[in-house]
Amino acid sequence: MLKLASSSRRRIAVYTGHLLKKNFASANVTGNPLLKTHTLPPFKLIRVDHIEPAMEVLLSKYEKSIDGLEEQIDNKSVAGWNIFNELELIEQPVEDAWGVVSHLQGVKNSDDLRKAHEKVLPNVIKTMTKSSQSVSIYKALELIKEDTNQWNKLSKAQQRIVDQNLTAMRNQGVNLEGDQQQRFNEIKMELADLSTKFSNNVLDATKEWSLIITDSSEIEGFPTSLKALTAQQAGSNDIEKGPWKLTLDYPVLGPVLQHARNRQLREQIYMANVTKAGEVNAPIIAKILSLRKEKANLLNYNCHADLSLETKMAGNTDNVDELVEQLRNKAYPCALKEYKKLTKFANLYGHKGKLEPWDTTFFSERQREKLFEFTQEELRPYFSLPDVLTGLFTLCEKLFNVHIMEVSNNDGNNTNDSVQTWHEDVSFFHVLSKDNANEHIASFYLDPYSRPEEKSGGAWMAVCRQRSDLLDRKPVAYLTCNGTPPIKDAPSLMTFVEVTTLFHEFGHGLQHMLTKIPYSRCAGIAGIEWDAVELPSQFMENWCYHKPTVDSFAKHYQTGETIDETLFQKVCDAKKHNAGSALLRQLYFGKMDMALHSTFNPSLGIDGILKLQHEIAEDYTVSPPLNTDRFLCSFSHIFAGGYSAGYYSYIWAEVLSADAFAAFEEVGLDNEKHIEGLGRKFADTVLGCGGGEHPADVYKRFRGRLATADALLRHRGVV
Ligand code: ZN
Repeated sequence: MLKLASSSRRRIAVYTGHLLKKNFASANVTGNPLLKTHTLPPFKLIRVDHIEPAMEVLLSKYEKSIDGLEEQIDNKSVAGWNIFNELELIEQPVEDAWGVVSHLQGVKNSDDLRKAHEKVLPNVIKTMTKSSQSVSIYKALELIKEDTNQWNKLSKAQQRIVDQNLTAMRNQGVNLEGDQQQRFNEIKMELADLSTKFSNNVLDATKEWSLIITDSSEIEGFPTSLKALTAQQAGSNDIEKGPWKLTLDYPVLGPVLQHARNRQLREQIYMANVTKAGEVNAPIIAKILSLRKEKANLLNYNCHADLSLETKMAGNTDNVDELVEQLRNKAYPCALKEYKKLTKFANLYGHKGKLEPWDTTFFSERQREKLFEFTQEELRPYFSLPDVLTGLFTLCEKLFNVHIMEVSNNDGNNTNDSVQTWHEDVSFFHVLSKDNANEHIASFYLDPYSRPEEKSGGAWMAVCRQRSDLLDRKPVAYLTCNGTPPIKDAPSLMTFVEVTTLFHEFGHGLQHMLTKIPYSRCAGIAGIEWDAVELPSQFMENWCYHKPTVDSFAKHYQTGETIDETLFQKVCDAKKHNAGSALLRQLYFGKMDMALHSTFNPSLGIDGILKLQHEIAEDYTVSPPLNTDRFLCSFSHIFAGGYSAGYYSYIWAEVLSADAFAAFEEVGLDNEKHIEGLGRKFADTVLGCGGGEHPADVYKRFRGRLATADALLRHRGVV
């Protein structure tokens, strides 16, 4: 997953430079760290009560600066490309401060922070909207396009920036007038508020549910690591005697569904998860869908999907439907066969009747063990976090000619340049370019472990600093994972999934950090069509299935042994285990999302939504969802995470990433020389070009042709 630090970079924003001298009741303006420009955010100095006064100052300054810039544009003292330079200077302080607030929301959430965020958010949106609806700026950007002479002098990346901003401003309602614009703005505010409520509700519901188990017979089947984690969460030192605390936090939920022999327990945790936030979020999703449609209509689009697709690589809903349908036709028969096989397997295992949703993961895991005779748990000892990191960095060194090194924390010294973090487990790294005498080109924070009490689930990469030659800034990334924390004296031992997740997020990080584009608006992941943005991340995951790469770092933390050949082969085969069902599930989510945002009539409300879910499930699932299933009510990707009418992007990008990796397979993954050459090419095109060119053009430069879905189906084993 990928999170944008504040809102989209493409919006227009402004600021002029001098702090407003305004007296605030609290002393939180003087010495407020959010009001100063820092190379890196001063996390140790930032307090929640800094947020409101800082944002008030910054936003008011920003607004004045927009007015100032408009005046300059109107009297022709600023024109052409310079507008973007001015905008960037104005934007940066707000971006920096708000970026920190958004980041802390995800990794250090608290009631106070939430309140501050909620209080400031409307003002942030209102102010940003004002600049994105500036007619002066819009007209001035149009002039850049109209003046052929000026236009031709711009680089391809600059031209894309102008085009993208014009589209973005149109989609921000710059051409709307009077009542229509007012309504548009109201909707935007309400949608932002609803998204925040939606994700807070999910977080709350996740936090609220827990189950204390005291009877050891109830945890039969739990692997040692799960016993240890749940005992630790219950504050117990004895992993065999308990008590054990079960939560909906993924490192617990996933393994419980896979391993708990106690069927009732599985049902209980499964139901808690799929009904989570069901009551509170049902009206919210209905409202969100209806507002999104109204907003799209105001902009003259038929539906939210049309609005979303205009700025995506796929371009229109037909192209998405075509790919989804093409893959469904392959996945469905495959999934049906798998389901029948699984049912048979479960029956042999003693299970009676049909498989309920809380049974499939469990039996699928048993079937996997039987067929491939290994458990996810067997792999953990080979994947200690420090070793995995070393392996990942070495791979990047080989492919992209960079060197990555950890920079120690500079705790005591709160100077402008000191590295401060929000938690003791977070570390900080520099990326050096070996092409260029080890020049420092980028940095990143890594927050590796799950902390359910304050950190959102899942994993993501977000932007801390965007590359900008104008501001003399190098890219800095936040990499956030939710891996298993170290238990007792052992290092953090990762599951294979956690390893691939880390590689995935690092792929995003690489595109952000190795950008060759000097303009913040399309450097790194900025300005990239959303459905192409998962290319580098999914590409990186492929390396986790290449034995020599894995051997270079996966050493048993006690014995130092590498993973046995047969075991590794099983890992690769296991990836294809029930592959049809896995692909179908993703297509189901994608189809659901697209249908909700295109053909669906939002006035049908939650009942209509659930009816649609069941209709789509007929073609996209082999066993229909339960009537009580409310997974949509915690489907944060599309209701709070920026993937609305865009969930298909994972598959769209996987077509690209699989096809890109196939290029490496074609030259031979063990052919060091060719791999390195291709790696550099990948770095120069896919990783380097950012949003500076249309992704199809970038891809063609890397691959010599457009991508096909063949490699995706082959890698997944769906045939
Ligand atoms: Zn991702």
